Amino acid sequence: MKIDNNLKHAINNVIQNIRDAAVKSGRKPEDVLLLGVTKTVDVETMQKIYDLGVTHFGENRVQEYLKKSDIIRRECHWHIIGRLQTNKVRYLDQRITLIHSLDRIELAEAIQKRGQKINHIFPVLVQVNVSGEDTKAGIYPDDVMNFLTNVSKMGNIKVKGLMTMAPYTEDPEEVRYIFKKIKKLAVDIEREKVENISMEELSMGMSGDYKIAIEEGSTIVRVGSALFGERVY
Ligand SMILES: *Cc1c(COP(=O)(O)O)cnc(C)c1O
Repeated sequence: MKIDNNLKHAINNVIQNIRDAAVKSGRKPEDVLLLGVTKTVDVETMQKIYDLGVTHFGENRVQEYLKKSDIIRRECHWHIIGRLQTNKVRYLDQRITLIHSLDRIELAEAIQKRGQKINHIFPVLVQVNVSGEDTKAGIYPDDVMNFLTNVSKMGNIKVKGLMTMAPYTEDPEEVRYIFKKIKKLAVDIEREKVENISMEELSMGMSGDYKIAIEEGSTIVRVGSALFGERVY
């Protein structure tokens, strides 16, 4: 019982922080989606958070998504958030609400092919690497427009916006510029009016930096450890 109370407390706390950050920056709290990052989290806990109001789940392994989605007894929304291997794309299906991590053209081609095969249009976000760290996946900001032009021709992919991962820092103020840069990039792209490309979603902000990300325009925050505690692999 204590665990449930902790979970409830953690969720309420994050939801309150989301509200505060939205209001502080003149935005509507309901324009920010709380995506529960449920990698390594068991199905029972996921059902509990669903019942507490977190109905969107982010997984970074397709295998884990498949396993959980078969046994979970809730109408939840599934997001793929981590680096997606091309050979895993054939397992993706209509139940995926959003793929956050489109970061290379070969992956786009694989998703397009899969979409054609199952007659489905996959909503995706393009992952952008603002910090320039080699370890972070993503398209460099200068290359995003060109990348989008290529993806826009793929009829079974619908680009809905951008995603980024900021490097971990003790002080999230240090990564505010990254979120600002993504927002500006999205505004610039929107202005180009590329067919089949929209910039309505910005997936940015994790447990350590989601408040700052919301202040800079995030529409989806991907929160794991602030809800579930530190992950045990
Ligand atoms: C694990 C993960 C998160 C959540 O990280 P926390 O710091 O636990 O909130 C968000 N986005 C991606 C892509 C992740 O892999």
